[in-house]
Amino acid sequence: MGFLSEPEPERGVLLSVIEDRVWRIVAPNPGPMTYHGTNTHLIMTREGLAVLDPGPASEAHVEAVRRAAPAPIRLILLSHTHPDHVGGVGGLKAATGAPVAAYHTPLISTFSTFRPDVPLDDGAEIAGLRALHTPGHAADHLCFADDQGVLFSADHVMAWSTSVVSPPGGDMAAYLASLRRLAQRGEDRLYLPGHGPPLPEPQAFVGELIAHREAREREIEAALAAGPAGVGELAARLYAKVEPALRRAAERNVLAHLLKLEGEGRAIRRGELWQAA
Ligand SMILES: [Zn+2]
Repeated sequence: MGFLSEPEPERGVLLSVIEDRVWRIVAPNPGPMTYHGTNTHLIMTREGLAVLDPGPASEAHVEAVRRAAPAPIRLILLSHTHPDHVGGVGGLKAATGAPVAAYHTPLISTFSTFRPDVPLDDGAEIAGLRALHTPGHAADHLCFADDQGVLFSADHVMAWSTSVVSPPGGDMAAYLASLRRLAQRGEDRLYLPGHGPPLPEPQAFVGELIAHREAREREIEAALAAGPAGVGELAARLYAKVEPALRRAAERNVLAHLLKLEGEGRAIRRGELWQAA
């Protein structure tokens, strides 16, 4: 995979992404899953300034977004309801009064009272952006596309890393279907992900991501053909070089592949062990 990296960005300040139209502020939550931190994007839309993903529950970050905003914040958009994206939504909404638009059935709703003010379905148009339901990383994941070839790909496609697909909120079959959907779109020239740097020439990269997952799936099937195995054992074998901090994520990815194979009648679970169907 041809991943991209970037130096640690300056914190708490507006970084220009597309001149006079798109900016980001990188949240203070760096980590093995979040890279330098969550990208909070500020987008000048035809209906005023929108904030995509307020980021983690950090008062300092919400305050930085509010202060740095080049115009009044009229709308808050959520790509999905993982804590590193939605944590700041209450604070930003309270400070600005802006309505929150998100997928109509938020993943987080099973353990919180969060409901979007503007529930979005696949294909909905909001402030000149098109919402694309792209489940896989999270069941409620939306990408937002503008009409100038920019797609806010959030955590579905990131230039710096593959995405974690962790069941039950994550779903490998859905993730691959969502990748194929993006691969078929010819109009996107630039992705702006939820973590890390922008991604030019996104279609080729999405093709690589699909090939990467298909290769992983073949490896898992080959391992199962050699005999029953548990998730931890498969992850240790397949992700031999993974850092300890990412081992759990690797196991979640393997489980996601196994559940996809099970759903397709290609693998069977017996207690803790998985075997070929
Ligand atoms: Zn994230």
